[in-house]
Amino acid sequence: NENKLLELEKLAVVGELAAGIAHEIRNPLTSIIGFTQIISERVDDASIHDYLGIMMRELDRINSIVNEFMFIAKPDETMKASKYNINSLIADVNKFMEPQSNLKGIRINFDSQSEQITAVCDQNLMKQVLINLIQNSIEATEENGEEIKISLGQASDDKFFIHITDKGNGMTSDRLKRLFEPFYTTKEKGTGLGLMICRRIIELHQGTIEFKSDVGTGTEVTIILPVKIAST
Ligand code: ADP
Ligand code: MG
Repeated sequence: NENKLLELEKLAVVGELAAGIAHEIRNPLTSIIGFTQIISERVDDASIHDYLGIMMRELDRINSIVNEFMFIAKPDETMKASKYNINSLIADVNKFMEPQSNLKGIRINFDSQSEQITAVCDQNLMKQVLINLIQNSIEATEENGEEIKISLGQASDDKFFIHITDKGNGMTSDRLKRLFEPFYTTKEKGTGLGLMICRRIIELHQGTIEFKSDVGTGTEVTIILPVKIAST
C-alpha cells in the first residue's frame, strides 16, 4: 500500500538523519547543561536565576528530543530483555509521573489488586512506552479532570494486556489514523515522536498497540505483549 511505503521511506530518512544529528548534538549539549547548572548554583541575582531556570528547562527539552532521535537511529541494539514483574514496573512509572500529574491535579489509578504478571521485556524501553502514553493522557486531560486508569492482566495463555484509559479530549478518526506518523503532533511544544517510538518498542517486543478514541469521551490504549519473546 502506497501510504505504508511512504511512511517507511519517511522513517528511513528520519532514522539516518537522527543518527547523525543526535550524535553531533549530544556532547556539546551535555557540557552546556553541566555549565548552566554550575552557573546557576553560583549566581545570587534573582532574575538571572530565573533566566537560568528557563534555560535548564529548555535544555532538558532538547535533551529529550535528542534522546528520542538516538533511539530511532538504533532501537534493536539497545534492547536488553529479561524477566520482570510488570506490576512493579507500572508502579515505578506511576511514581515517576506523579509530580507531573499532581501538578495538574490528576490521579493515576493503577489497581494494585491487578493480577501479578511476570514477563520478559527490556525494562527501560517498556518504561519509556508507559511514560509516553501516560504523558499523552495527562496532556489530554483538563486540569483537576477525571483520573487516568491503568489495568493489567492475562490476555491469553502466553499474552498479557495493559490498558491505559483517560477521559481527556479524545480524537477524531482522522487524527487516530495519523497517530504513529513521525512528527505528527497537535501540541505547540510536541515532538510528534512519542507514539512512533512506542510502536517501535512494542514491535521489538513482538506485541501490538491499539487506540480507541472519541472526541469528548476520551482515549483507551491497549497493549498486548507476549509473556516470553520468541527468539528470531
Ligand atoms: P506529541 O505528544 O509530542 O504530540 P505523540 O506521538 O506522543 O506526540 O502523540 C501524537 C499526537 O496524538 C498528539 O499530538 C495528540 O494529538 C494525539 N494523542 C496521543 N495520545 C492522546 C490521548 N491520550 N488523547 C488525545 N490525543 C492524543
Ligand atoms: Mg507524546
